[in-house]
Amino acid sequence: MPGYIGQSGTEDKNAALQSENNIFTCKKNDEFIIDIEDLGTDGEGIGKIQGYTLFVKDALTGDKVRVKIMKAKKKYAYAKLLEIIEPSEWRTEPACPVAKQCGGCQLQHCSYEKQLEWKRKKIQDCLNRIGGFTDIQTEPVIGMDIPYYYRNKAQFPVGYDKDGNIVTGFYAGRTHSIIPFKNCLVQHPCSSAILETVTKYMEENKVSAYNETNHKGIVRHILIRTAQATGEVMVCLIINADKLPYADKLVKMLLECSLSQKSGNINGINNNFNENSFIKSICININKENTNVILGNSIEVLYGTPYITDYIGEVVYHISPLSFYQVNYGQTVRLYEKVMEFADLKGDEVVWDLYCGIGTISLFLAQKAAKVCGVEIVPQAVDDARENAILNNMENTEFFNGAAEEIVPLQYEKSGGKLKADIVTLDPPRKGCDEKLLNTVVNMQPARIVYVSCDPATLARDLKYLCNRGYEVGKVQPYDMFGQSCHIETVVILSKNDK
Ligand code: SAH
Repeated sequence: MPGYIGQSGTEDKNAALQSENNIFTCKKNDEFIIDIEDLGTDGEGIGKIQGYTLFVKDALTGDKVRVKIMKAKKKYAYAKLLEIIEPSEWRTEPACPVAKQCGGCQLQHCSYEKQLEWKRKKIQDCLNRIGGFTDIQTEPVIGMDIPYYYRNKAQFPVGYDKDGNIVTGFYAGRTHSIIPFKNCLVQHPCSSAILETVTKYMEENKVSAYNETNHKGIVRHILIRTAQATGEVMVCLIINADKLPYADKLVKMLLECSLSQKSGNINGINNNFNENSFIKSICININKENTNVILGNSIEVLYGTPYITDYIGEVVYHISPLSFYQVNYGQTVRLYEKVMEFADLKGDEVVWDLYCGIGTISLFLAQKAAKVCGVEIVPQAVDDARENAILNNMENTEFFNGAAEEIVPLQYEKSGGKLKADIVTLDPPRKGCDEKLLNTVVNMQPARIVYVSCDPATLARDLKYLCNRGYEVGKVQPYDMFGQSCHIETVVILSKNDK
């Protein structure tokens, strides 16, 4: 029985490993030595014993590991990593001291170069396996220059440690217990100074932290957003009360806190975009519901504007605490430029931007198109999109609120089948596009479709649908928007096949 080394490290004669009818079984606490052959969708290591699959968190492709079964199912089991017997060449020391406990980064123990290689393979596998494409090559992933400090939005939970001290940090993976940590390596580096200041304000003024169990206490979360093009920073406290006690003191302390005190070098990693950050907006968001949803609906401004301002190219955007905005600025700029290049606009085109959010892609393309119509399901995002259009004097845009799979077929029907598009952009959530929508898109006969995807599996499924109905995949270009995590963004250009 290869690999089996007994139960809890001892040789076990009643070996749980049975090969009855070729079905391999094991049980809790059994230990094995296995080779990790691949990574699963959540970045966990995958190893096999006689076709039986073991998922091992924190193990990497190329590792030889000793593991203990935690939960055994018929065809697979979850196992705990006990020892790395031979480390993979992919391994690197995580830069963050709490990388293992925290639920945020799944791949910090993997070198960045290998993260990108793995992400490319993940897309290629989906295209082959789900899409049935044999002749499409995924381009190398365009990675970040510095794969740290890239997030422009963070929501830090606030609570107490076991000694009653106020803590803020991150939820441990899949739990609601807070790991106290203020120097997150993927957040904008100004976060640490802000978290220090808010904690100090709470301690000095005896402002309580929220307790999820008894629904008592005031401060629930600290939301920080940054606008990279302007350096503007927003701090928003989410509170379980109508008013924040001593709000004036918080404002004073935040305006005095030096955001750049930690710039330059944290844990040996350089960041060079902290120097010009300054607080432009301080607000509270009221959420008195007993819920896991972080933000409530009402916002009160304590200082400055209710939004911060960012630019993507020439286009200006106002971002409020509730707005959706891409979290990785640098990669978003590159990705949108690729969308623009793929759309190849000459100036007289009608574009439909489906799943448009606050209209970021719509407005970016409206710079060069005759008309852009955006469709988005979240009403507040559509309000933001319309406001942003006015802000940019873009009268050649129109936004529709509703599900794309309802709005677009309805508009098509209303036009008596005459609604046409020159270009369609699709940027759906992870579940991809509804067939009803794809079918209407095909009927609108766009010359090109630009598909922006955050899930390679649904991307492959949708590409297959479109390619069976007269479209051809040109290029598949991935961008790493979420370094150290297992997520990947892909942009694909499809052209109408007129043959
Ligand atoms: N293109 C935007 C947003 C992409 S995120 C950007 O680049 O910023 C995907 C968006 O799809 C979200 O804003 C989400 O609210 C929206 N959405 C989800 N389901 C939808 C549906 N069925 N119809 C239209 N929009 C939807």
